[in-house]
Amino acid sequence: MSGTNIKHIRSRAVWDSRGRPTVEASVELVNGAIGRAIAPAGASRGRHEAIELRDGAERLGGFGVERAIGNINGEIAEHLAGHDATDLRAVDAALTTLDGTGQMARLGGNATIAVSMAVLWASASAEGSALYGYLGGDKQDHMPHPEVQIFGGGAHAGRRVDIQDFMVVCPAAENFEHALTMAAEVYHAAGAVMEETSSRHGVADEGGFWPAFDSNEAALETLLRAIERAGFRPYEEVAIALDIAASEFYRDGHYHLTLDDQILSAAEFIQKILAWIDQYPIVSVEDPLAEDDLHGLAEFCAAVPAYVQVVGDDCLVTNAARVRASAAAKTCNAALIKPNQVGTVTATREAFDAAQTAGWDTIISARSGESEDVTIMHLAVGWGATQIKVGSMARSERTAKWNEGLRIQDALARVHARTPRLSTPRWMTRSSTHASHQTVNLPGEAD
Ligand code: PGA
Ligand code: ZN
Repeated sequence: MSGTNIKHIRSRAVWDSRGRPTVEASVELVNGAIGRAIAPAGASRGRHEAIELRDGAERLGGFGVERAIGNINGEIAEHLAGHDATDLRAVDAALTTLDGTGQMARLGGNATIAVSMAVLWASASAEGSALYGYLGGDKQDHMPHPEVQIFGGGAHAGRRVDIQDFMVVCPAAENFEHALTMAAEVYHAAGAVMEETSSRHGVADEGGFWPAFDSNEAALETLLRAIERAGFRPYEEVAIALDIAASEFYRDGHYHLTLDDQILSAAEFIQKILAWIDQYPIVSVEDPLAEDDLHGLAEFCAAVPAYVQVVGDDCLVTNAARVRASAAAKTCNAALIKPNQVGTVTATREAFDAAQTAGWDTIISARSGESEDVTIMHLAVGWGATQIKVGSMARSERTAKWNEGLRIQDALARVHARTPRLSTPRWMTRSSTHASHQTVNLPGEAD
C-alpha cells in the first residue's frame, strides 16, 4: 500500500456563520498526512445545484446534517479506504458512482464536497506543499482580484433590497493587499454615509451592511458616494460589481422589484439594468436575469458594453456542460465557481476549465453560509482564477479567506522576489474616459 493511500475518513458536525450545522471531513493517509475541510451552504441556490443533505424534522429547524455525516463515517469511509489520495479524479469518480444520482442527492453534496476537499488537502500535505502550490506548481505568480461586498440584500438581508450583492472591485490596486485596503476604505466610508442617512441597520449574511434603502437605486447611489468619500475616482480606481440574483424575484415570467414597487418584463428589466450601467460605475453584473431566462440573458449579454463582465452563477451551477452550453448561447462571459454547487473538486475544475476554454473570466466564490475553511482561496490562486468573491471586510468567516490570500501573496513574493501582480479581468479594459455619472441627493441629505 502506498503512503498516499487513504487510511481513515472521519466526519463531524461543526457550525457555520448562520449558526447552522455543517459537515466537516478529516482524511488521514497511510503516511500520516492529514487534510480537513468544511462544506459551505448557500441560501440563494440554483435549481440544478448538487443536493445538500439535511435531516429535516424539528431539530435545528430541519438543518441537521447527521445523515450526511453518517454517510461519510459509513459508506464513504469504507468505500474510499485504500484509494490513492493523489489521484483525486479517481476518488471523485468513486464518490460520484457511489452516490449514483447524478446530483449527489443520496450521499449529499455537502458530504461529498467536504470529503473531496479534505482529500485534496491531505495530498498537498503529503507532498509538504501549500495547497495553492500543490495545485499550481511554481508557475503561479499572480493573484485574483477580490470582489468585496459592501451591502448585502436579497436572501442575505431579509430582502431589504431586491438586489443581493453590492460589491466593489479595485482596478487601480497594485496588488491583492492593496485591493483589500482600498475595499476596506470604501466599506468604512459606506458605513459613515449610511449612518448619516439612517440607512445602516446591521450586518448581512456575508458581512456587508444590512441596509434600509427606499429604492435599489438609493443603494447604488450610496455605494457611489462611499467610493468618492473614500477618496477614489469611480471606474478608474474603484468600480461596482453587482449580483442581482434575479431568480429570487422572478415569478410568472416577470421581475418583481418589491422595493421599487415595479413588476417588469425581461425587456424592461434589461433596460433598467442598462440604465444603471450607464449611470453608475458598474463593471460586473452577476445573474442579471433568472436562471432559466436564457433568452433574456443572451439579450443582456449582447447589449452591455464590452468591458462589462456578465457572470453566471445560478444558471451555470459550476457545471461544465452548462458552461459550454452557455458559452455557445452567449448568455454570460464569466463563470462564478462554487465547489459545493457540484459536489467534487474534480467537477469544479472541469467547470473552471470549460470557462477558461470559452475565454471567460473565472470567479471562485464562497457561499453565504461559511466557516473558517480557506480552500477556495487556494483554488483561486492555484488554478489562476481572475477573481475571488468571499463577501465583505467584516466577519471572520470572510476575513479568514482574505487573510489567507495575504499569506499566499507574501509567500509568492518571497519565491519570486517581487509582489505578485493581480490578474486582468475583462473590466480592466474599460477606458477611463467613459461617461460620467450625475449624483443625486440621498434621503435626509442636503446639497
Ligand atoms: P448563496 O449566494 O451562497 O446564498 O447561494 C451567493 C451568490 O449568489 O453568489
Ligand atoms: Zn450569485
